[in-house]
Amino acid sequence: MNPTQKIVRVKLLPAAREYRGRVAPSPTGFLHLGHARTFWIAHERARSANGVLIYRNEDLDPQRSTPEFAAAALEDLRWLGLEWQEGPDVGGRFAPYDQSARREMHRTTLLALITSGHVFACTCSRKDIAAASQAPHGADDEPVYPGTCRHRCLINDPQAAARLEATAWGLAPGTKFSLRLRTSDGALVRFADTALGPQSFEAGRDFGDYVLWRHDDVPSYQLAVVADDIAMRITEVVRGEDLLVSTARQLLLYEKLRAPAPAFHHCTLVRDDHGQRLAKRSESLSLRALREAGRTPNEVRAMWAAVNGDA
Ligand code: GLU
Repeated sequence: MNPTQKIVRVKLLPAAREYRGRVAPSPTGFLHLGHARTFWIAHERARSANGVLIYRNEDLDPQRSTPEFAAAALEDLRWLGLEWQEGPDVGGRFAPYDQSARREMHRTTLLALITSGHVFACTCSRKDIAAASQAPHGADDEPVYPGTCRHRCLINDPQAAARLEATAWGLAPGTKFSLRLRTSDGALVRFADTALGPQSFEAGRDFGDYVLWRHDDVPSYQLAVVADDIAMRITEVVRGEDLLVSTARQLLLYEKLRAPAPAFHHCTLVRDDHGQRLAKRSESLSLRALREAGRTPNEVRAMWAAVNGDA
């Protein structure tokens, strides 16, 4: 490590708090065995800590989410045996639990980041923008941003709300732009994963400046998930290991928002017979297909235990 390299210091939530975990499916397809295993682990960790499990429907992307898949995810996870204490179907103190209904809170978080000078307006290629409201899973992860529009960053900007207009960034009226987080090249994000142990990622090498708000006026996955995890007082995030780099990205947001970060527990992925991780297109291993084929919840759990060697 270079001695001048910045180490990102993120405050952690005190361990003595009531455990609040979450399952956060995106309703863009039927859930498969891999999701089911991660969510089951989240459920078991909340239960063994005598804590609360929150169900958050991550229907952020209006083009890819459907109410049918949202209803199917709730139904399939209940069938599997999951129970949650807060969620879109049961309500709770931190409602709404549909992410698309939390836009105002996402906007408030965005404005805080603009005001503190961490955001720039980006007019670069549109290709990656469609992907920005989806969680980047493993091989689908985005390339490191080359920094082209970084200069368009405003420090201590009291007029943050106006910055949602192109002209406030020196762009012609009507220009399409996304808003990205400005990261510091070489900054190290380190954390102790409760499943995988010590982790270290470097800004500018493992990930770059990433989208917080899409050019079509939709919050990005990274921004929404952090804003919601903070607002819902999540103390531990259980997710697939394909989101490890996203966790590093998100820890930068906790640091910049001066919010204590939850603990992270990344689960190994379920793979198919060819060693490929499952995707929503792995239809034969969807919970829906397994249910329809007459499998019981116990049999489904035995299937992922057989693949991953766990119980
Ligand atoms: N909803 C996202 C997904 O399905 C990610 C959940 C998370 O942040 O843990 O991939």
